[in-house]
Amino acid sequence: MHELCTPGDAAAKLAAAERILILTHVKPDGDAVGSALGMQKFLRDTGKQADAFFPAPLPQRYLWMTEGNAPLPSLSREQAAACDLVLVLDCASPLRIAGGDDLDWEFLQPLPLLNVDHHGGNTVEAGSNLVDSKAAAASLLAAEIAFASGRELSRGAATAWLLGLITDTGGFRFTNTDGRALRIAARLLDCGAELEKINNAVFFSKPRNQQEFEADLLQNHLKFAFDGKFVYAWLPEELFAAYHFDMRDGEGVIDLLRELEGAVIVALFYRRGDAFKVSLRSKDSRYPVGPMARALGGGGHDMAAGITLVLPDSGAVETLLCQEVGKLLDTGTPKDI
Ligand code: 5GP
Ligand code: MN
Repeated sequence: MHELCTPGDAAAKLAAAERILILTHVKPDGDAVGSALGMQKFLRDTGKQADAFFPAPLPQRYLWMTEGNAPLPSLSREQAAACDLVLVLDCASPLRIAGGDDLDWEFLQPLPLLNVDHHGGNTVEAGSNLVDSKAAAASLLAAEIAFASGRELSRGAATAWLLGLITDTGGFRFTNTDGRALRIAARLLDCGAELEKINNAVFFSKPRNQQEFEADLLQNHLKFAFDGKFVYAWLPEELFAAYHFDMRDGEGVIDLLRELEGAVIVALFYRRGDAFKVSLRSKDSRYPVGPMARALGGGGHDMAAGITLVLPDSGAVETLLCQEVGKLLDTGTPKDI
């Protein structure tokens, strides 16, 4: 179990460090990018040498956030080891930390680490851990740390964190939206967060090739099981190739399935290297997909989870998912709320 710290403790840790490296999870989403770039901006504003590092290119729609706030282009072990503190944001497990080829957990663990995350069952054992599964986003925790520090927030930091909060709550529509999320959002807006820019980037900037990819997906690739309660799609390589579309830019694609009337659980899966990457979402908190994902070696939140499955072919993934979702829909027990 973690020794947990408070946002105030985390703020003190950051204040005591001069050189801070910021890492987040592989295949970064809005919350990963927002929490990391927001922290980078906030700490740089306070005079620190703070650098976020993303080993793979960022999703197109978030590139504007790096303007005037560029992350590290590369990172060596020597550079990482020279830091006073490594801040790990939004990573549920050591295996999900994006450190590039050189920085695996074996290398990172002995360094002074601050783990800030909102995934229940976080397994990153750092020296300091701010893990709060009730927080709607890691960006919310980052903002709480900044507010606890008593320092002023710049517009850039506030914008990055509001973006993370908006993407992880689906624009305040998902069940993780609560008063705390809305209160932090209000404070970020009061600090000048640019809502128009965020919403245009997140919701109204779909490239044409993505729109065509999505139309093809909806028209030709949807499958339905259990009277339409389970809606899923296998995305073959050819579909990505036909539209020059990469799942790096695919955050939100799964919401096309979630939008369908009658769908309770939705899944997307596609090949990634030797394995299959599965994304799962639930629309009904009586049927959380998080425990199912964990039981299959994956992880995530109750209502949004994922798995990387090593199976011989897409048919085997489909069979397994239908079997597990069938069990969940049969036996889902209402949660105490
Ligand atoms: P997404 O479907 O957007 O990739 O991920 C949804 C959630 O599931 C994220 O919070 C992420 O932490 C978790 N997740 C996604 N893919 C994997 C995976 O392959 N393994 C684990 N352990 N968690 C995953
Ligand atoms: Mn998150």
